[in-house]
Amino acid sequence: MSENQPTARIARTYRFEAAHHLPLLPSTHKCHRMHGHNYRITVILRGQLDNRGFVTDFGELDDEIAPLLKQLDHKLLNDVPGLENPTAELIAFWFLERLSRAVTIRVYENDDSWAEISRD
Ligand SMILES: [Zn+2]
Repeated sequence: MSENQPTARIARTYRFEAAHHLPLLPSTHKCHRMHGHNYRITVILRGQLDNRGFVTDFGELDDEIAPLLKQLDHKLLNDVPGLENPTAELIAFWFLERLSRAVTIRVYENDDSWAEISRD
């Protein structure tokens, strides 16, 4: 890889549906009760371009994230190890810990609200 190769950021968005509740909130808070979201997660990678002109092939990222999405889709997130308190922030962290090449993960709980965790 040449030192003159540009560095680029790429992103891809995935979706899963899951239930959760936030046990650390007071019982009067609506998010303490069980409910569901159509989550969207955007994975951002950063790197130099390879000899194909890619940071990575999106298909390779799909293969990497598929088993993680399978662990969460149509599940109660609180039952997943590491997600006992599944806030959007901690869901983003859960993905970041498991996707070594990701620099940033953004988790949308709905169209209006997201949380993002970065390595920097
Ligand atoms: Zn919620």
